[in-house]
Amino acid sequence: MEPHLWTADQESARAGFRAFARRHVEPHAARFDREERLDEGVISLMASQGHLGALVPAAHGGSALDPLTFGFLNEEIGAACSSARSLLTVHGMVCQAIGAWGTPEQKARWLPELASGRALAAFALTEPEVGSDARSVQTTATPDGQGWVLNGHKKWITFGEVATLLLVLARHGEQTLALLVDGSAPGVQRTPIRGMLGTRASMLAEIRFQDCRIPPGRVLARPGFGFPVMASALDLGRFSVAWGCVGLGQACLEASVRHASTRQQFGRPLAGHQLVQRMLADMVVGVRASRLLCLQAAAARAAGHPRSTLDTLLAKYHASTMAMRAAQDAVQVHGASGCSAEHPVSRYLRDAKTMEIIEGASEVLQGLIAGQARGDLRPDPEA
Ligand SMILES: Cc1cc2nc3c(=O)[nH]c(=O)nc-3n(C[C@H](O)[C@H](O)[C@H](O)COP(=O)(O)OP(=O)(O)OC[C@H]3O[C@@H](n4cnc5c(N)ncnc54)[C@H](O)[C@@H]3O)c2cc1C
Repeated sequence: MEPHLWTADQESARAGFRAFARRHVEPHAARFDREERLDEGVISLMASQGHLGALVPAAHGGSALDPLTFGFLNEEIGAACSSARSLLTVHGMVCQAIGAWGTPEQKARWLPELASGRALAAFALTEPEVGSDARSVQTTATPDGQGWVLNGHKKWITFGEVATLLLVLARHGEQTLALLVDGSAPGVQRTPIRGMLGTRASMLAEIRFQDCRIPPGRVLARPGFGFPVMASALDLGRFSVAWGCVGLGQACLEASVRHASTRQQFGRPLAGHQLVQRMLADMVVGVRASRLLCLQAAAARAAGHPRSTLDTLLAKYHASTMAMRAAQDAVQVHGASGCSAEHPVSRYLRDAKTMEIIEGASEVLQGLIAGQARGDLRPDPEA
């Protein structure tokens, strides 16, 4: 579809991601969801394919994908399993933050391990009392002469249960800091979170830091730059989730078309009923529109264009609301089967709801987009 919008190399990478996702991820996604964990086998396979090093420069052992190819990776894995896509998201956020803000020593220390999957990364911003209002984090980092002492409590941390490297936002007075913390350091206590609504295999954890000593050389950028570091990681996270939602919407569409073409009611296939056609048509248009917004965001990122952050907000907002609508309609088209584990659409619906909350709740994104709306006005010819 739309091959004129990307190159033959990007199309071939996309086909490879799709084949991998269909063969190695999709068949296990229902089990991952039921067991509330990704198994190590699939994580190793993703690592062996270079997926975990997607955003790591080749010099550090990564595959250094361009934004659009990274988008396709998220779309295809996202169509198969939103939890596996979540791993790409948070791991990628940390790889990207180290690549963009790290010192040569930090890059050499962490990027090869992250690219190979020997280390898994998590992004730890949210706290029990601090969600959307990220600037208000309460976790503290106190200088101890050489490094820092970390105290605080993070919650809802994707792959926090198993990550070996945590990117943590803390504050020291008015300054924010982005810290690279060993997951197994003394003073780090992790408690798995079970029973989530969606992306249930993304191994969430609560993480408590109690007098956790952080050696020197673990601050990304410098003290005072914690928020910009995390904001740039969140921008990448939104890009990844937006593409994942395109995949989720596409999965809803494909399941619905299959079911509506084979299931007969009132003497004809469901797809012969106009109100079912309306749902299918909305899915087709929604998925394509979201993909085009994602393509625009990818092009802006590739060009280093200043609009890339706004384009990513638009893509994430549109794609996550589209995925939710598509998943609701997919369940509707499947009727009772859609409410059971018999078809994956009930999982799609639970996953899609989560997409409207993570990486900026829809209402927060609406506020940010509205705040930028003047930028979309036509220039005044008299000016
Ligand atoms: C599955 C899952 C995985 C997650 N993974 C991570 C992770 O890896 N790392 C991490 O740090 N966090 C993670 N989170 C936390 C996530 O980032 C937060 O849930 C999100 O930022 C919203 O914060 P909150 O849940 O505290 O909701 P709140 O901030 O309390 O907001 C609740 C609701 O209030 C409304 N609202 C809030 N602010 C505004 C506003 N300014 N304008 C209008 N309406 C508003 C929105 O409707 C919002 O949904 C995860 C959450 C989930 C569910």
